[in-house]
Amino acid sequence: MIINMSEQATNEQIEHVIERVKEAGYQAHVTRGTERTIVAAVGSGGRRHELENLQAAPGVENVVPIAQPFKLVSRQVKPDRTVVQVGNVRIGGPEVVMIAGPCSVESREQMLSTARAVKNSGASMLRGGAYKPRTSPYDFQGLGREALQILDEVRRETGMPVVTEVMGTEDVDIICEHADMLQVGARNMQNYNLLRRLATIQTPVLLKRGPSATIKEWLLAAEYLLSGGNRNVVLCERGIKTFETETRNTFDLSAIALARELSHLPVVADPSHGTGRRSLIAPMSRAALALGADGIIVEVHPCPERALSDGPQSLDFAGFHDVMQSLALPMRSIAGTMNGNTRAAAQRSA
Ligand code: PEP
Ligand code: MN
Repeated sequence: MIINMSEQATNEQIEHVIERVKEAGYQAHVTRGTERTIVAAVGSGGRRHELENLQAAPGVENVVPIAQPFKLVSRQVKPDRTVVQVGNVRIGGPEVVMIAGPCSVESREQMLSTARAVKNSGASMLRGGAYKPRTSPYDFQGLGREALQILDEVRRETGMPVVTEVMGTEDVDIICEHADMLQVGARNMQNYNLLRRLATIQTPVLLKRGPSATIKEWLLAAEYLLSGGNRNVVLCERGIKTFETETRNTFDLSAIALARELSHLPVVADPSHGTGRRSLIAPMSRAALALGADGIIVEVHPCPERALSDGPQSLDFAGFHDVMQSLALPMRSIAGTMNGNTRAAAQRSA
């Protein structure tokens, strides 16, 4: 249930409602928005009628059920959009964030040259997998700890925050020491042990949508993170499995729009995995930006034909530069016409 406080509610009245929610057997999650405070009562096994009675408490405007199965992720609980800070980069603010880098970390030189090239072209964050979830056990599995060292060095040298995938709970601590954001890969979106562990830290999480997950399941996976205490979550659409074979996955543009409608969390688009085709990266990125995506993540490699993973969908440096050129206009117009609060207001009413 949601207890919407009135705009004039005092701190004491808000505190009183929080106490009463706890007494009724629920957790109280408080969102202090630009206009009003919302107290969300979540959990199971509480006494619902006691919440309904809060309608009569001073400072309460109304008490309404949360319409969706996901609660803290929902825009009903938090109408203002969330901005997730990753190092010096803000995802979900007025500026679109470009994240670029190879599928896998292969060497120091590969990472450093890629970081410099993509930064020059306008990317503000670097990607690169140290632990790789591969369909075949005979494929390159990632350099593991050695890759983490490389990522750490490169982020220090270039000042670019780094996102890298975490596959197991046992790697969470070490990855947090070397990277700025943890990616939960598509195959792990429903690894609930991993989600529960990541909920206990504050390091931002990039939560990819599972290849066969519904939008509701994806948002419920995010709910695991928020309800466990980590609010620094960014959603990532990376394509789903359909009968189509001409593309690697079917990039679900409607999911980007709907996730932003249903949730306050930022949404990033991954057209590299979403299509598996480098020729589709520019048009799909433009489409994602038109839908309001807060960022784009793409795979870039110094020499895609030699890449140890995902070469066919990777851009080389010149290709990435061209993509950035083709996005310059939409990115400028988004940043220019919707700065600060005006973009937030536009997003609220979207
Ligand atoms: C990746 O980012 O390289 C990756 C493995 O992505 P996904 O989990 O979306 O397949
Ligand atoms: Mn990849």
